[in-house]
Formats: sequence, structure tokens, C-alpha cells
Amino acid sequence: MDHARAVNILADGEKMNIESWGRYPKTTGEGYSFETVKTLAAHLEKNNMFIPYGMGRSYGDSALNEKVILTRRYDKLIQFDPEQGIVICESGVTLDELIRIFLKKGWFLSVTPGTKFVTVGGAIASDVHGKNHHKAGCFSNSVLWFDLMLPDGRIVRCDREKNRDLFLATAGGMGLTGIILTAAIKLKPVKSAYIRETVVRCNNLKDAFEKFEIHEDATYSVAWIDCLSKGKAKGRSVLMAGENASTGAIDLPRKRTVSIPLDLPSFCLNSFSVKCFNHLYYMKSPQYTENRLTPLDTFFYPLDAIGHWNRIYGKKGFTQYQMVLPKASSFEGLDLILDKISSAGMGSFLAVLKLFGPQNDNYLSFPMEGYTLALDFKIQSRLFAFLDHLDDIVTDYGGRIYLTKDVRMSPDTFKKGYPAWDTFSALRQHYGMNQKFQSLQSKRIGV
Ligand SMILES: Cc1cc2nc3c(=O)[nH]c(=O)nc-3n(C[C@H](O)[C@H](O)[C@H](O)COP(=O)(O)OP(=O)(O)OC[C@H]3O[C@@H](n4cnc5c(N)ncnc54)[C@H](O)[C@@H]3O)c2cc1C
Repeated sequence: MDHARAVNILADGEKMNIESWGRYPKTTGEGYSFETVKTLAAHLEKNNMFIPYGMGRSYGDSALNEKVILTRRYDKLIQFDPEQGIVICESGVTLDELIRIFLKKGWFLSVTPGTKFVTVGGAIASDVHGKNHHKAGCFSNSVLWFDLMLPDGRIVRCDREKNRDLFLATAGGMGLTGIILTAAIKLKPVKSAYIRETVVRCNNLKDAFEKFEIHEDATYSVAWIDCLSKGKAKGRSVLMAGENASTGAIDLPRKRTVSIPLDLPSFCLNSFSVKCFNHLYYMKSPQYTENRLTPLDTFFYPLDAIGHWNRIYGKKGFTQYQMVLPKASSFEGLDLILDKISSAGMGSFLAVLKLFGPQNDNYLSFPMEGYTLALDFKIQSRLFAFLDHLDDIVTDYGGRIYLTKDVRMSPDTFKKGYPAWDTFSALRQHYGMNQKFQSLQSKRIGV
């Protein structure tokens, strides 16, 4: 039985198939759902070693374990302040639900990841970033406070002053500090459901870096990058920059979605098909277009229009490798990483480059000032050895790997990339969180 159905009909503790967006690994575990804090506290009292599971849009094993707390039914909107744009809601509410309710009232998310099918709890626990990280920081920047259920069932309110250590550990803490219950989120006022988009082709990586700097003042920026191109075209990209429009309707146009009905045979995706796709994508993008009016949905969530797109990687699933390097070493490091990817012929057509702003104080948040690259790889035999090799480069250049996408990083790579890991671990011990919450990922990386 899959998770989407299970949330509504499983009896507590019943076995279910659990997987995340990468569909690797496929696991079986006990699912526990809740609608009230009383039920949740009873689950925690009777059982150990849970991990919260929202929409399962993380790619790896951070939301997987033998026992999972399914948060999706904890989904009430509690209050909205129309003057300030502050919404208070339960953690199982999705960003899609917030957009559907509040966009037409003139409010949008201050920070959003590249899919709207994530829960508020998942967005806080991964401290997700969007195309405006260089201007607005991570999702936690828009969180005024949240309530957290600790291992003993106590509920504590956390903000940047009160229970600051719990705030810093939980935002980005991958569900390992407790269950986020209710959160107050500051939305952003918008006049339209459209973005004024500028699209620029970049000839190679150097050109892409220059164009990112030129568009540094844009509210949103991101680039698709051809990770298999070589020579003078190595790192050729298409940069998309945008501003919230002040014209255009305030409601989103109705959009038809398509769905991938079956797992595609994995041989469909090989270096030849990826090269062809990359070539066509690059050539069909305009050399330069300014101020094109693009619906928010298309700008922020292009992949959400294709249901189950993760099936194109075949039955074995895939992983997303997302790393960031400090700005000073970004060019040299990424140049080297692109060389390795193109010679291994393992690249993906969903490759994204983005310039981050400064990092925040949260112990395990991913972004640091510099360039981040995200690539999808189908699961295949030589892959993990190859990614271990990329990890060494990332570590040597002072970078880190994103936990919410990870399924295979070593404890050593994790600890080098996240120097506050020991503060995080000490806090887990102090509150007894290590006795109650764990994931396949936390066991693997030694938190
Ligand atoms: C197409 C696509 C695009 C994406 N784009 C981006 C992007 O641009 N930027 C970005 O940062 N991320 C991006 N992501 C990743 C995604 O935003 C995160 O993985 C997010 O955390 C998923 O939320 P979820 O509700 O599905 O959580 P899950 O995947 O179910 O869980 C993720 C983590 O959150 C924890 N968690 C969930 N709910 C709670 C809770 N109530 N209390 C405590 N912990 C909890 C889980 O234990 C787990 O560690 C993308 C994912 C996809 C599939």
C-alpha cells in the first residue's frame, strides 16, 4: 500500500511501504498518524525511534525509518492576520494549500522550494531554500515561531529568543529533534500571480557566473545547466531571473497536468538521450528575453505539472546530488566537478545552478554563500563510488551536501560539511531526542 492512501486508511502501527521522492531505498515500516496532540503524545509514549514523514518530497532517507509519524492529517489552518500576512497553521498543511487559499488574497510564500507539494513541517525541518535565497534566506526566515513536541510529550514554543537552541536545531534538523506541530509564517504581499521573467543564455560556466552577478539584484534567479557539455561550452546554462509582477491576474490560470503512468525502462535515460535533451533545451531557450510575463506556477514549480515524474528514472529509482561550495572556491570546484560528470557520462537533464546568499545560524541548514549545483542520477552500479569521489572534491573545497536530498553520504563527509553537528548531537542527547527520533539517514551519518 502506498503512503498517499495509507495516511487515511491505515490502522496505527500497520505496516506500509515507505519511500521518498527518489524511490530509493524502498522500505517497509509502521505508520502512525495523528490529528490531535493527545494522539501524538500517546504514540510517543508507547514507541521509540520514530521519524516524521510529511509529503515524502525529500529525495533520500531522511524521512524513512522502521517507524514513521505521518503528519499529513495534522492539517488545520488556525489563524490569519490579513494586515500582516501572518498565517498560523498545523505542520501537515502543504504549501500548495497555502497558495490556493492566500494567493487570491494578495499573499504568496516568502520562500518556496521548487515544488509546492511539501508540508510546512517538512519545509521547516529541511529549512528549504528557493530562487530568492540570496535576498530572502531560507524558509525559517519567514517562520516567526513554531511549537515542537519533545520526546516526553511536552510542547514548547520556539523562536529566535525563546528556546533559541531548539529553534536553531529544529529548522534544518531533519525531524531529529521532535515533531513540529504549529507554525506562524509570514507571507509576502504580491499584486499578481505572475512573474516578470528575464531569460539569458550563458555560453559556459564563466559566463553563467558573470550573468548571476549581473542579475544579483533580481529577486529570483536560477539557472538550468548542461552538465554534459565539454570544451568551450562546458557549463553552458540558461539563467532565469524574475520579479513579482504588478500586472496580470491575482489568481493562477487553470493548468492541465499530465502524469507519467508507469516506470520507464531505465535504459531510456542514458548519456545520449540526456545530451540530446540538453542540446534541444539550450537551443530552444531565447538568447535574451526581458520581462516575459510568466505564471507563478510555471516559474516556481515547472515539474509539478508532470505527475509522478520520478517514474522516468525507472524502477530502481534515482538520487539527487546537491552540493554547495563557498563563493571563493565555487568556480574552480564546479569546473572540476563538471569535468568528472561529463567524463563519467552520468549527468542528468535536471541540473540546476544557483547563487546563495549568506548562511544562517541554524545548526544544520544547508545553504552557505556560494554556488550550489543539483543533479539527478538514476541508481546504477558505479554511481555511489562516483559520488563518493565528488564528495571528496566538495569537502576539499570547503562545501557540503544537502541532507534532504542525500541517501549515501558518509559520516566523515557529513561532519566536515556541517561543523555544528556536535552542538546538534549534544542537544539531542540533552533532551533525550536520540532515544526517540532517528531516521535511516541519521543512523548512517552518525548523528
Ligand atoms: C521537485 C522537487 C523540487 C524541490 N526543490 C527544492 C528546492 O528548490 N529547495 C529545497 O530546499 N528543497 C527542494 N526540494 C526538497 C523538498 O522541498 C524538501 O525535501 C522538503 O523537506 C519536503 O517536504 P515534505 O513535507 O515532503 O517532507 P518529507 O520529505 O516527508 O520529510 C523531509 C524531512 O522533514 C522532516 N519532517 C517532516 N515533517 C515534519 C514535522 N512535522 N516535524 C519535524 N520534522 C518533519 C522529516 O523527518 C524529514 O527529515 C524539492 C523536492 C522536489 C521533489
